[in-house]
Amino acid sequence: MHHAVVSSASIGMLKWATRGISVSVLHNDRGQVRLARRLLPTGPVAAFAAARPTTFWSLAMTSPARPEPAAALREIIPAGGRWSGRLESGDRLRITDLEGQQAVDFLCYGADMPLDRMNLPNTIKLNRSLYVTKGSRIYSDHARLLFTVEEDSCGYHDTLAGCCSNESNRLRYDVTSTASCRSNFIAELAKWGLGPSEIVSNINFFMRVPFKEDGEVVIAHGISKPGDQVVLKAEQPVIAVLSNCPQEHNPAAGGKPTPIAVEVIRAAAA
Ligand SMILES: [Zn+2]
Repeated sequence: MHHAVVSSASIGMLKWATRGISVSVLHNDRGQVRLARRLLPTGPVAAFAAARPTTFWSLAMTSPARPEPAAALREIIPAGGRWSGRLESGDRLRITDLEGQQAVDFLCYGADMPLDRMNLPNTIKLNRSLYVTKGSRIYSDHARLLFTVEEDSCGYHDTLAGCCSNESNRLRYDVTSTASCRSNFIAELAKWGLGPSEIVSNINFFMRVPFKEDGEVVIAHGISKPGDQVVLKAEQPVIAVLSNCPQEHNPAAGGKPTPIAVEVIRAAAA
């Protein structure tokens, strides 16, 4: 890695970082460097810096000719939590059901055309299957390939039941003001400038929704074991959004929501 002299602007950014804003050194497709900043989540700055030593403390300006791959990301999403991120072509997203039987509600969007959303009817038709599993391809409204399911230790994942919501929980279980995947999606999509109307039918990883020949559909206890995982390969720049389902009134999360792990493996670092 080539280091350039840290400019006074960078030092200014470093001071900024201590006031709750992180700075990352990013590269575009042509290897040009740009600085990105974002509000820090809660927690000490030092812990954040320790987790990202190459992009934080060094503030090294790498040579455009030799872009440094962005570091892999791994986060534990607590029970009922949510996550979103952008992946470039060839990046992998690994989702791990740490304790088993935990539904993960999943949406994705073309990053260069965000209103080209994941489309499950296209996905079902083109895969000729109501289940998503290893080898499945996830398509958009425009039938563009967003993701390929590269690994799957669970076996199959639901495309039918969509996400839980306050409104449907009230009708089904006579409860009000519950945490829900729809609320999680709304909060997470807002980060990308997308509104509630961009919530479409979603994939439920690790969720089992058997259906009978007469059309009857039920939400059943999942078959995922602790440590089961899926690996999705991005086939174009995509925004992935997920909700670690907080449902406690049916078996979607085994009756007791549990944490999951989310990892992004950058193609450039693989
Ligand atoms: Zn849910």
